Amino acid sequence: MHTKDIAIIGGGIAGLTLAICLKGSRFKCHIFEKKEEFEEIDAAISIFPNALRVLKQLGLLQEVVGVGSAITRIFMKTDHGKILAQTEPRYQLPALGMLRKDLYSILLHHAEGTFYPGYALDSFQNMPDGKVNLSFTNGVSKIFDALIGADGLNSVVRQGIMDDGKPVFRGYNIWRGIAESNSDIHYASESYGKGKRVGIVPIRDGRYGWWATMNEKFMVDDEPEGTKPKLQRLFGYWHHPISELIAKSEFIIKDSISDRIPVKGWTKGNCTLIGDAAHPTTPNLGQGGCLAIEGAYLLGEIIRKYGITDTTFQLYESIQFPRAKAIVEDSLMLGKLGQLENGIAVFLRNAAMNIAPPSITLKVIDKYFLQDVTSMKI
Ligand SMILES: Cc1cc2nc3c(=O)[nH]c(=O)nc-3n(C[C@H](O)[C@H](O)[C@H](O)COP(=O)(O)OP(=O)(O)OC[C@H]3O[C@@H](n4cnc5c(N)ncnc54)[C@H](O)[C@@H]3O)c2cc1C
Repeated sequence: MHTKDIAIIGGGIAGLTLAICLKGSRFKCHIFEKKEEFEEIDAAISIFPNALRVLKQLGLLQEVVGVGSAITRIFMKTDHGKILAQTEPRYQLPALGMLRKDLYSILLHHAEGTFYPGYALDSFQNMPDGKVNLSFTNGVSKIFDALIGADGLNSVVRQGIMDDGKPVFRGYNIWRGIAESNSDIHYASESYGKGKRVGIVPIRDGRYGWWATMNEKFMVDDEPEGTKPKLQRLFGYWHHPISELIAKSEFIIKDSISDRIPVKGWTKGNCTLIGDAAHPTTPNLGQGGCLAIEGAYLLGEIIRKYGITDTTFQLYESIQFPRAKAIVEDSLMLGKLGQLENGIAVFLRNAAMNIAPPSITLKVIDKYFLQDVTSMKI
């Protein structure tokens, strides 16, 4: 059988996972990344059992577990540290907190294909023979048998396939950092204030990833006050070790929280979308990257079994879409509850969390964590 050449636009979690899934097959991956280096940002990521099942199937479990810290308990707290609820995820595989860079270097190491750093896709055209003609901003054009858009939230491939406008900003921004703390906490937590939240996740070696959200306009400039003074003003009086983590963070990254309304139509001819390009979600469930891993695996298996045609890509979409839609919508709702500002609404939210038995919380997370795309019959 002839080798087929697949262009993957975007060397993020989704693109690299697909390139691992197609390893050793007759489908050769060409991975184009607009950045000059294949690299990830300095922040934490939580990887849950649904994604670990895929990584296990790909033979990466031990390596990924080796760079992670198991999240054995998750607390929901008030800004002053009163515990509102807690849960202990108990699955055959752990929930892990880790540095994005560590996960990324494992994926990069195992991905197979030709890598093109510094190649930003500008546009593409479906050709009558089913092939796809890609044009890059550096003036280079190349023809491939198929195109996979793994180019994230502001996907150029999505624009070419669906043209459904810009992502939707959800009214709050997020700051993220990594810091050491002597606190020796081995749990993850999310603390709720009025229109503000802080999350903490253990990484390893006494380091923690933290994030803080606040209702404000799209990417408001923190200057002239400065990011750290602003965060200390907003969160410095919150419970330990929040102020310490902010103070000790070498870098703080700010992003807006945006997603897209889930709509079908990711596929056009031999082109389709994976990861955030297909189903960007707010990070309230910590499932965007996990879902990207699931989807890349699903598409990889379908390509291996049925090859690359619009029918096979539509099969992938028909399976991935309902799960992605549920996660995007649930995450959006959770974010709305988390960002409530009104005093009475905040009181009622906290009271509801406080009386919900842990079994209910576990039932809710089962829906996300129990998914096993590796045992799906396709
Ligand atoms: C604050 C925050 C916290 C999060 N926490 C978690 C978590 O704990 N757990 C979890 O599972 N998920 C989490 N997520 C979601 C997760 O980060 C994303 O879902 C995941 O990174 C998506 O991977 P991707 O490969 O689809 O897209 P991306 O990571 O966005 O990668 C896309 C790649 O494409 C490249 N690119 C873009 N345009 C072009 C172009 N035109 N040409 C070539 N290359 C291009 C980009 O440079 C990038 O490298 C979080 C997200 C945020 C914002």
